[in-house]
Amino acid sequence: MPYNRCGSSGLKLPAISLGLWHNWGDVNNFENARSMTHRAFDLGITHFDLANNYGPPAGSAEANFGKIFKQGLLAYRDELIISTKAGWDMWPGPYGNFGSRKYMIASIDQSLKRMGLDYVDIFYHHRPDPETPLEETMGALDYIVRSGKALYVGISQYQPEETQRAAKILRQMGTPLLIHQPRYSMFDRWIENGLTDVLTEEGIGSIVFSPLAQGLLTNRYLDGIPSDSRVGGDGRFLKKSDITNGKLNTIRQLNNLAQDRGQTLAQMAIVWTLRNPVVNSALIGASKVSQIEDIVSGLENAYLSDEELQLIDRILE
Ligand code: NDP
Repeated sequence: MPYNRCGSSGLKLPAISLGLWHNWGDVNNFENARSMTHRAFDLGITHFDLANNYGPPAGSAEANFGKIFKQGLLAYRDELIISTKAGWDMWPGPYGNFGSRKYMIASIDQSLKRMGLDYVDIFYHHRPDPETPLEETMGALDYIVRSGKALYVGISQYQPEETQRAAKILRQMGTPLLIHQPRYSMFDRWIENGLTDVLTEEGIGSIVFSPLAQGLLTNRYLDGIPSDSRVGGDGRFLKKSDITNGKLNTIRQLNNLAQDRGQTLAQMAIVWTLRNPVVNSALIGASKVSQIEDIVSGLENAYLSDEELQLIDRILE
């Protein structure tokens, strides 16, 4: 597993990180979640990404990860980077979402309790809050680091200009902004339009979520909708209606190109995100151990030629 420096910080992240948004909740098979966590770590995936609301029900992914950690990974705490976030709806009333100091600090305390941890490595503000002053949210992140509840802080889903402001406020407080977590894949290239410049200028690292477009950029849906897939199961975040004929046609062309390279489409989609020098880690999700193994072995062929990159651009046009 290659480990990439996160922006201009001292922290290195694995080229592949594992996210626990889906398949670690109480509704899922615990033994499968445990196997995926252990296999990932054995393959050099040292970074596990959570959020207060992952499940369902909300909070259960953290609780299940905590159980897996306590039973099998406790001895390796110093080899792990564990992150969590607050920002989306978590509990009822006006203090259970967005970016107030009240919410952020209560949420990290709850997350630490659920996971049975003394601290997380990275704590994120999960989405921008249009109403709370950015100074208040960043002040909460700064406090969380100073109180030892997190080692580093990050932001997610922030636009370029907001990112620049957040970085400035945090720098003035003496807590650098370690990392940005944006969505990025062949199907969603918005970060190339301004954000990557800001991250480079500010020395902020990045870890990109949904690099497989939630499973679309794989061979999963080439022959219909499998019942054990994200569309066939949960169906809330990736919907049947997202798989249009046009999209399927693009996926098939990309799949052919990946086969010509001797790769699966999932492997090619991941190395494509990592070709961007701003991307320090691709944050994948998985429902099976074999998917994690597939992605990690794809790193053996991470080089994409100019010709291949141009072909991909043409397919995506
Ligand atoms: P991906 O785009 O990597 O999608 C993961 C899905 O792709 C898997 O569940 C599986 O689908 C399929 N898949 C994975 N590997 C393979 C393979 N080798 N072959 C075939 N199919 C494969 O990422 P996610 O959307 O799951 O997001 C990843 C993480 O990013 C989350 O867990 C979370 O930590 C983070 N995230 C952060 C957000 C934020 O706002 N900051 C928002 C969303 C995610 P199937 O289940 O159908 O088998």
